[in-house]
Amino acid sequence: MKTQFEVGIIGGGIIGQSIAYQLAKEGVSVLILESNKIGNGATSAAAGMLGANSELENNDAFFQFAKESQQHYHVLRDELSQISQINIQFVDKGMYKLAMTDAEASALKDVVKYHESVEWHSKEVVLESEPTLSATIKGALYIPEDGHVSPYHVCAAFSKSARLLGATILENTPVHEIKKTVTNEYTLSTPVTDFVCKNIVIANGVWSGHFFKKLGLDAGINPVKGECLSIKSNDIGLEKTIFYDHCYIVPKGDGRFVIGATMVEDDWSTVPTIGGIQSLIEKVTPIIPSISSAQLIDTWAGLRPQTIDGKPYIGQHPEGENIYFATGHYRNGILLAPKTGLMIRDLILNRKQNEDYVKAFSVNRLQVQTM
Ligand code: FAD
Repeated sequence: MKTQFEVGIIGGGIIGQSIAYQLAKEGVSVLILESNKIGNGATSAAAGMLGANSELENNDAFFQFAKESQQHYHVLRDELSQISQINIQFVDKGMYKLAMTDAEASALKDVVKYHESVEWHSKEVVLESEPTLSATIKGALYIPEDGHVSPYHVCAAFSKSARLLGATILENTPVHEIKKTVTNEYTLSTPVTDFVCKNIVIANGVWSGHFFKKLGLDAGINPVKGECLSIKSNDIGLEKTIFYDHCYIVPKGDGRFVIGATMVEDDWSTVPTIGGIQSLIEKVTPIIPSISSAQLIDTWAGLRPQTIDGKPYIGQHPEGENIYFATGHYRNGILLAPKTGLMIRDLILNRKQNEDYVKAFSVNRLQVQTM
């Protein structure tokens, strides 16, 4: 087995796979070590919304980064399908952010004034295109750019493409320890064998806090558990994603609707609770009254990796080591995966970077601010 690589990536979720794909495309020898099955962590739990406009409120570097990442899905849809023959199920029919009260309607109408890529749709317009919605809605913000993908398929497509381009991807291979060698490389110790890499990337989602500590960095990652359910129904015919009060209904191409997601801080359990699923059903029922006759297909839970300010860590070790971080993507890892892969590729290959992004996502940004 080959044990020497230019880049070793810890974690085979959507973030690790996106990075591996971009590096393999450049001919870099890359290894991914995944403790379980690829995409088995938060990636498989996600609904797959690409909510740059609906999730992020400030027009800052984070928002620009998210928009670029969202746009890059248009490129990846064709590129990944050509290489891997996997369809990432990119649907760009947009999203309706609903208003259920007059106050909510007026707040959403205000958004149109400063946000050029959204429109206000009256109740009549919304109900004409989405007649399944309750007649009690007051209207909706139409966000054409916020589509969705199938996270599992994106991860699988990145992974297969990376592999076909030469990457080595090992499942059931947890990294227990990182050690520096005398030649300034890094040994990644696993139960299988030790791997030696010139550069390493910490991309193991909510579990990456362990390596931050081991590397002497004070940048924690906390779990925020999210529960979801999926349903099928002949009485529900949604085209667009529906978003209301942190709850969403995503129409998947296979006739399922994914409803999510709860937010439970500091909970490491990945088993959904009756209370969590009940709270989602209670939120959706006033929006789609016919939901009560739908078939319940599945319920599940996953752990969002949350940083202290809600933004990811994407950058190099502050002391200039060849250690890179790509973690803490919290609620938006599917949206941010394409651009994270490109940014880490450029950092490792020493290419020109957007300095606003380097600052916004640096591992020690919070310490720098307080100095
Ligand atoms: P993960 O997918 O968790 O991957 C990390 C991997 O590292 C895992 O496979 C794990 O097994 C592996 N690992 C852990 N420790 C080790 C080790 N020591 N050695 C080797 N491997 C290790 N985002 C969106 O953009 N849109 C959405 O609609 C959306 N919906 C969501 C809904 C829910 C319910 C949840 C929970 C999340 C949602 N997210 C969404 C967020 C998104 O899922 C995450 O931000 C994203 O999946 C993080 O990807 P990741 O690769 O960093 O982590």
